[in-house]
Formats: sequence, C-alpha cells, structure tokens
Amino acid sequence: VITVKNVSKLFNGVKVLKNINLEVKKGEVISIIGPSGSGKSTLLRCLNGLEKIDEGIVEVRCNKIGMVFQNFNLFPHKTVLENVIEAPIIVNKIKKRKAIKLGEELLNRVGLLDKKDLYPSQISGGQKQRVAIARSLAMNPDVMLFDEPTSALDPELVKEVLRVMKDLAKDNMTMIVVTHEMGFAREVSDRVIFMDKGEILEDTVPQKLFLNPENSRVKLFLQKVL
Ligand code: ATP
Ligand code: MG
Repeated sequence: VITVKNVSKLFNGVKVLKNINLEVKKGEVISIIGPSGSGKSTLLRCLNGLEKIDEGIVEVRCNKIGMVFQNFNLFPHKTVLENVIEAPIIVNKIKKRKAIKLGEELLNRVGLLDKKDLYPSQISGGQKQRVAIARSLAMNPDVMLFDEPTSALDPELVKEVLRVMKDLAKDNMTMIVVTHEMGFAREVSDRVIFMDKGEILEDTVPQKLFLNPENSRVKLFLQKVL
C-alpha cells in the first residue's frame, strides 16, 4: 500500500533521511526502532505527507493514513466521545446520530465506552492514548502510523495501549509503529526496521533482527536496550 523509493530529506542542509527504500504491504505490521535522532519520526511524517521530501518518491496506494502521536493531542475542551466524532462529522460530513453510534462502537472496542462523557483531564494517560487511537480509527484509515505511542506513559499503563494495538494487528490493520517496546516489536510485528543516522541499516523479520542482526550498530543498540 506504500512504496518508498530513494527518499532523502534535509533539514537546514543536513540529510536526516538518506536514500530510504521501503515497501509496506497490506496487513503488514512493521516496527521501526533505533536511537534518538535517527529519523524515525521524520520518516513517518514523510509517509503521510506531513513533511515534504527532497529526493525520491513516496507512493501511497490507499485512501487514508491515520496517525497516533506520543502526546495524544486530544482536544481538552471536548469529551472523550466528542473527540472521537469530531472529524467524522466535520470532515466526512457524517450525521451526528450516526457518528455517535460509530464513536460508541470504537470506544467500546478500546474498552472506554464508560468514559465517553469525561474530559481528557479526567482520564489516565493510557486511556487518553486509547481515545486517540479510537479517534484515528473513526476516519476509517487503511494504514495506521504510531509514533512512540507508549513513551509518555507510566509503565503500568503501557500494557493497555499495547493490547489495543495488538488487537488492531490481529484484525489485519496495516501498521507502522515507531517504538521502544522491544517486546511488541518482537512479538507483534512481521518486520522490524532499524534506523540510525537517517539510514535503514536493517529491515528483516523480528527473529532475525533480535537474535542474529547483520549490522554491528544494531547489535550495539540491542545490547543497550534489551
Ligand atoms: P526520537 O527517538 O528522539 O524521537 P527520531 O528518530 O524520531 O528521534 P527525528 O525526530 O526524525 O528522529 O529527527 C531526525 C533528525 O532531524 C534530528 O537530527 C532532528 O534534530 C532533525 N529534525 C527533526 N525535525 C526537524 C525540524 N522540524 N527542523 C529541523 N530539524 C529537525
Ligand atoms: Mg521521534
């Protein structure tokens, strides 16, 4: 559904993405790992057009790409349900009654139907992130991008968000997940991509990357984080 060919991206004359090649197939779950500043977020942003590329091409053969960020970005003055149904009503022009039904279904799916009338300030970080996922799903995306969705969460709240993401993966959602959760990368993804200094150094199945990586920089990184 997405093909990336020879993509480079510069910020102030510095190449932060160097000759990136990537093929994302329908239903695939891809984890992207790598040190801070290696270009993981920039790559995601290039995939959904939030960032302009300087060289190469990004071919998107699907309608809609959803994105979930580290810091949830919920509307603070809207309830949980209102957050989820805002875009379907405003952007997709869905009737309010229908949007509410959809919103309630999605909140049920992420286990938060009972919180629908609360405001973001009244729920936990893990719950906020699950609302953010439901809100993104409300636009019926073909591909979901996650940029460190659990990094801002207390450890005990990480699990509930990963559970929702695992369920999505099981339902065959195409997903690209930038993550520090090596357990998720290993168990849930079909492929793991290791980035360093703007380059993809390894792109392979999790068993291979975690047990027998080709690249010495990957080995070093894994020694530090595992
Ligand atoms: P982290 O794990 O810390 O989130 P990352 O792998 O997501 O890191 P990016 O945020 O993609 O890394 O950043 C890659 C490089 O591009 C960094 O050197 C960063 O400073 C630079 N960069 C990112 N966004 C901008 C911007 N808007 N303007 C200038 N430089 C930027
Ligand atoms: Mg980042």
